[in-house]
Amino acid sequence: MSEPPAAAPEPTQAPAAAPPADGEAGPSKKGAKKAEAKAKKEAEKARKAAEREAAAAAQKAASGSAEDLAKDNYGDATPETRVDAERVTLKNIGEEHLDKTVKLRGWIQNSRMQGAKMAFIELREERAWTIQGVIAASPEGKPVSKQMVKWAGALKLESFILVEATVKKPLEPVKSCKVSNYELHITKVFCIASGPEVLGLGLNAANKPVASFEDEEPNSGAPTEAVENLTIGEGQPAASLSTHLNNPAMHKRAPVQQAIADVRMRVRKLFAQYLDSKNFVQFEAPCLIGAASEGGANVFQMPYFDTSACLAQSPQFYKQIEIAGGRKRVYCIGPVFRAENSNTPRHLTEFTGLDLEMEIEDSYTEVIDMIEGLMLHIFRGLEEQCKDEIELIRSVYPSEPFMLPAPGKEVRLTFAEGQKLLREEGPEEYRNVSDDEDMSTPQEKALGALIRKKFGTDFYVLDKFPEGARPFYTIEDPANPKVTNAYDFFMRGQEILSGGQRIHIPSLLEDRIRKKGIDPASPGIKEYVDVFKSAGVPPHGGGGIGLDRVVSWYLNLPSVHLSSYYPRTPKRLMP
Ligand code: ATP
Repeated sequence: MSEPPAAAPEPTQAPAAAPPADGEAGPSKKGAKKAEAKAKKEAEKARKAAEREAAAAAQKAASGSAEDLAKDNYGDATPETRVDAERVTLKNIGEEHLDKTVKLRGWIQNSRMQGAKMAFIELREERAWTIQGVIAASPEGKPVSKQMVKWAGALKLESFILVEATVKKPLEPVKSCKVSNYELHITKVFCIASGPEVLGLGLNAANKPVASFEDEEPNSGAPTEAVENLTIGEGQPAASLSTHLNNPAMHKRAPVQQAIADVRMRVRKLFAQYLDSKNFVQFEAPCLIGAASEGGANVFQMPYFDTSACLAQSPQFYKQIEIAGGRKRVYCIGPVFRAENSNTPRHLTEFTGLDLEMEIEDSYTEVIDMIEGLMLHIFRGLEEQCKDEIELIRSVYPSEPFMLPAPGKEVRLTFAEGQKLLREEGPEEYRNVSDDEDMSTPQEKALGALIRKKFGTDFYVLDKFPEGARPFYTIEDPANPKVTNAYDFFMRGQEILSGGQRIHIPSLLEDRIRKKGIDPASPGIKEYVDVFKSAGVPPHGGGGIGLDRVVSWYLNLPSVHLSSYYPRTPKRLMP
């Protein structure tokens, strides 16, 4: 039996303030305060040192006075710490490793003492890859001693450790671990970086659906609604978005967040892959620009030497300059900034834009065909290449699989047809929706539900938007100037892309700019128009896709804030 730990000694007395030097007047009030503060600081230092000493004495007493024969097999890692065994990863561990000595690094996900001689340590390597480790004192005191078990069992959760272990078969599969058919019999364990005394966000909670978005977005309401529909089991810990984002390391350690991040990166790759295969070339658009690219209202402005600069609201002009510069098909991936005070599950102040632009030969529908093919390639690619990630995400955020149209049955409606459908078959409040006014978000969602029911797809296109709903660079339909050759793409009833044919004839462009109440000679606009005056530019069109929305709506997440790496909103700029 080990002795109880020695009682901590009383804190040492604060050293008295130094007497005033000869000839000096007594301490001023300020001086006395300073001395008092210094004394307090030193007393605190002394108290902490005494506490450390007491803890060390207690540990020594608890471990008994017997020599620790395993002392070189555990402890805090130093730069010299090495383990000389085969390095394995949990993904690759197999029969060939049985009874072999291996080394691994990972985080302590869980640990528990089983009496004084044995501890179980669940080790997580990455994502949800976990294995059970057993550390048991050897009768002869090495390679594992009782002291070593005690030390290892007391390591804090989420500490990063290095272990040497023999791979064994457990008596029964370890259900709580992803690697359930093997366990590690630990012979060495070194703590590379300790976890904190108390975790701000435990892994368990980090891997649960976000419980509330309210503290991030007091006025929105909408994401909370979505979260209410999720089944969060009774008594399961869950945290608010604010707690998640304020604990970024733990938020990101959650397997669900890593799976979302992997899906996100896959979408980027599939986007680029498809366009590369269609002879598009990638280019880079600037973020810092001299004038608002999409109108002045929602632009971030900042001082720029002796003038001011804006953050790009889209790469629109630059895609078109590339086309003017003789690139036939271009795309770019980059940050887009919107100074919108929109606290909704759809909006960020910085998001990632997947943008493309291409020459048109005969009709702007060539662009729609291209983007439709692109989106279907992305959706099918995700289905095939991210099966595991999607399954994991659905286990936390349950959702119906994303419904794709059968080949050749893609849904393309005109805006007017969409409104008609809403009027005729939608909810009562949409009986009188007009063909000339843009749709509201609830209207879009209602139409999405109708289209799912009628056509069996979560993905569709609305074309020929009303003139008033599109920016100055959009071409009007030559057959009906009340509408434009412009379209939006939707996923589960929510817009993910806006695009259209652009005006390439400078005189027409100036006319439409004026029609929109903008001065064609205003800064930024003039330079834009001049590009079309400076050289003949072929007809062209394209679109801008919001990556955050594609990922979120594909997975039916309650908010784009979950698919963004570092969501930037009106209320959050950190971390
Ligand atoms: P919304 O009306 O939903 O605010 P928008 O019409 O302003 O969007 P566009 O300017 O057409 O959007 O941008 C193209 C795409 O970029 C959108 O379809 C969407 O996917 C994405 N997007 C636009 N604004 C945001 C935002 N604030 N946060 C996240 N994604 C956005």
